[in-house]
This record gives sequence, C-alpha cells and structure tokens, in this order.
Amino acid sequence: MSKIRVRFAPSPTGQLHVGNARTALFNWLFARHHGGAFVLRIEDTDVERSEARFETQLLEDLRWLGLEWDEGPDKPGAFRPYRQSERLELYRKYSTELIDAGHAYFCFCTPEELEADRQAALAAGRQPRYSGRCRKRLREEAARKVAEGVPAAIRLKILEGEFSWRDLVHGSTSFSSDVIGDPILVRSDGHPAYNYAVVIDDHLMEITHVIRGDDHISNTPRQLATYNALGWQPPEFAHLSTILGPDRTRLSKRHGATSLENFREMGILPEALRNYLALLGWSASDGVTEILSNQALIEQFSLDRITKSPAVFDQEKLNWLNRHYMAQLPPEKLAALTTLSLVNAGIIIQPIGSGVRVEDPGRSPSNELVTVARLSDSGVLGQPAVDKPTFEWIDRLGSLTPPYGDRWEQLFSLVFNYDAAAIVTAEETRHVVEDTGARAVLQAFIPKVLAEKELTYERFRALAKEVQKETGKKGKELFHPIRVAVTGAVSGPELEKLIPIFEEGAKLPLQRHVKSTAERLREFAAAAKL
Ligand code: GLU
Repeated sequence: MSKIRVRFAPSPTGQLHVGNARTALFNWLFARHHGGAFVLRIEDTDVERSEARFETQLLEDLRWLGLEWDEGPDKPGAFRPYRQSERLELYRKYSTELIDAGHAYFCFCTPEELEADRQAALAAGRQPRYSGRCRKRLREEAARKVAEGVPAAIRLKILEGEFSWRDLVHGSTSFSSDVIGDPILVRSDGHPAYNYAVVIDDHLMEITHVIRGDDHISNTPRQLATYNALGWQPPEFAHLSTILGPDRTRLSKRHGATSLENFREMGILPEALRNYLALLGWSASDGVTEILSNQALIEQFSLDRITKSPAVFDQEKLNWLNRHYMAQLPPEKLAALTTLSLVNAGIIIQPIGSGVRVEDPGRSPSNELVTVARLSDSGVLGQPAVDKPTFEWIDRLGSLTPPYGDRWEQLFSLVFNYDAAAIVTAEETRHVVEDTGARAVLQAFIPKVLAEKELTYERFRALAKEVQKETGKKGKELFHPIRVAVTGAVSGPELEKLIPIFEEGAKLPLQRHVKSTAERLREFAAAAKL
C-alpha cells in the first residue's frame, strides 16, 4: 500500500469543539500508528464565516492537545498550499475540465427560482432536490451567457445508479442517486462548494483515508460522484459516530464545556483530554484499559475498534482521568500550570514583581509566544511574571490539587470563594450551626483564633486542644465543625496544609483577596450568630 496520508480539515468558523478534536486525534493516531503523514488543511472557502483568529486558535488548540501535524498552512510540504482560499486556481482548472468533458454544466437559476422549486417539492411531499432545469440547456448557449457576464454556478451531473462504499466504521453503505440532486461544484461568486473542494484537495494531497464525523456521511455520495467524473480513485472513508450529551441529544454548548478553550480554562490537562477523547467511540486492544499513555494509544490505535454507536460524553470520567494525570505531574510543572490557571481565572491579572516567568510547560516552545499573548489578553501587561513568595505560595496551593480534586477550579473555589452566609444556609453544611455541640466548639474556638496575632498551624492546633479540654469534644466532633467553619466544606485537604495557605495568601498582593483564617471565622460567627 502507498504511504498512509490522512488529514484534519477544519473550517475556521469558530472554536475547536470536542467532536472535531476527536476527529483530529483519530486521524493523528492513525497516521502515527502507521508511520504516515498527518496533514492539516484549512477549509476557509466560506468567506463570510471564516476568520483568521479562529485559524490561529485552531492551531494553538491542536498543539495544546499534542497533535502536531506534518504538513499544514505553517508547514508547507509538497502539496501546498494548505488553505483552500489559496487553491482557487486548482478548483477552477478542474471545473473547466469537467464542463469540457460534459460532466458538469453552468447553472443560471436564481435563488428565488431555487426556493420556489424547493417549496413546490415540499408542498407535493417530495424531498427537495435540484430540478435539473439548467442541465437541459445547450452547452453553446450556456457558454455564450457566461461570456456575456451572466453569473453562473457550476453543477455536477449526477448519473443514475447507486453510490456505495465500504465504510471502515459503518461497513457497506450506499445511497441511491434518486435522493441526490446535481450538486453545486462552484458557486456563482467563484467560490468552490465544500463537496467539490474536498475532493480536489484529498486527491491532489494523496489522502489515503478520510476519517471524519458522520455528519458528512450523506456528503460522501456527492464526493464519490465527483471522483467518478474526474476518473479518480476515491480514498477509504471512516465516519465517526456523533458525540452525545448525557441526555442523549447531540453534544452542544447547552451541556456545558465543549470547546478546548473551555476545558483548558477548567484546568483539564491535555494528556487527560487526549486520553479521554481516544475512548470516545474507540477502545484499547484488551477492551478494558482506560488509562493509556500517548505511546500506548499510538501502538494500539486501529480503525477496527471504533464503534458505530454514538458515544456519550461523560465529564466525570474526564475529571477522573484528569486527577490521574495531575497526580503524575512533576512539581514544577504543576506549579507553573496552577499559575497559568490563576491567570486564566482572572485571579492574577497583573504582573507581580519580576521573579518567575509564567510558562505553560505543556506547550511546545514554539507556542510560548501564544502563551504570553493569552496572558496579555487576560490583562497581563508585558512579560507575565509573579514574584518568588507568590510563586512559592502557588506551588503549595497547586500541590493540594491532585489528592483533593480533579481540577483547579475546585481548589480555587475553596481558597478564594469563602462565603459565610452560604455556609450557614447550605444543605450540606448548616448542621454545624444547628447542632449544639458544634456551636459550643465554635463559640469556644473562634475568639481564641481572633485573639492570635500571627496564626500558625501549630497555634491553630494548640487552640483546638484548649477547646477540647474546655468542651470535652474531641476527634471528629471537634474538628468537623472547625473545618466547615474555616473552609465551608465538609471535606477537603488537610487543615495542616490549608491554614498556612490561607494565612500566607492573605498577605499576598493577589487580584482576588484570600481571606485569612481569622477573617473567615469572624464572618462565620456573625452569619451563624454565635
Ligand atoms: N471542513 C469540514 C468540516 O469542518 C471537513 C469535513 C471533512 O473532513 O471532509 O466539517
């Protein structure tokens, strides 16, 4: 077999979503498994909706996910250019050939005529498709109109019959020509239609396998017809199932985070997302292993184990994988990523001192500039930096995440969002105010903390011991109410680690103030009317 070549062909019309990211990942894994080439092609022929900033973001997102391409707009290879807007000449060349050979024809139908046909078909209970009006026109007459400057689209003649292929995911698939009207190859404004450009590009770029979402399955017969008309051999096709939300409707923004940007901001690591996306509709060779390194994914990836049925997106499973990968991070990387997350969360929004540069070691060096730009977007001017005490504090904060939670946002909420009024009313925590034993503990404990000048964990613990003596409460009866009053949560990291984080955090010039233990307890006493 010739060398395997696959492509990811996004349209730069918005953020990269999980569905497309999974398509990119499967293409990348397939290429890497076979030692083939992974091509990135930008499908920007929809001039109205395509934007350069989305293309920049796409490239950045793919790199963040670790899917480096071998050829692409910024890495021109033998099949350049890799942006459809720069390939218009090629599309023109082949559409002229198709017209000359009688496989395609000019269409002068106006949008109004087409709409009237559509309405008539719907009224008659027929599936709307192009009537074929211009197909009957004489070729010379059409050529004359075009020469006179009358705007014309170019349509492909669909020949009667079946369009079938053996889909590598869905098995044998076929469509009858009855349901396909003559498709537009080139619009009257000269821009190629997706179904046409994709064929020209896939063929010229020597793509061997087209792996894409199954929303394109009904486009495949039109593309096959174009291959036939040009006398070209089509590539293999593998259509990946749709990704559904937990309610089994197509995954969309309604279900929560769907773009890579969303996941990154939430504190999901690229290695966790990559591992998770690989399991959306594919399984490891033993059918059970869920934690798979990049190497394992590449080694095991095969199109045979892709399922036809839709995959349901499960945020909990992604969080579980994230916890696993966070626990594996070396401390310096964890600290750098925590800093970056604090910047993304708007908690550090200005450079503090000039001690430590904030970089995301998860990105390749070539992406450093992007990182800096991203920080600048968040309001960080100049070289983003935090001073040493801040960085050390962040380091300790970050080190709490893997055992405690699976994402940074949980930790940040614990540290930055203390709200006494919510604690005394929330279902999960209000028992601390309602229980007389717990009230007695807090009534004894809070004034002691408020009387301290410099609270350390040792003093905190010694004060709790005094309360033990005074109230006779010990163990859980003693520490549970204290934990809830100080942190607002019934469980979490050890107080031994948290108290210093609150105390030191309160002294740092962060954009969002960290309340000290005393500030917390003072607010709690007021809210609980102790
Ligand atoms: N630009 C198309 C999309 O983003 C590509 C489809 C294909 O892979 O053929 O859906």
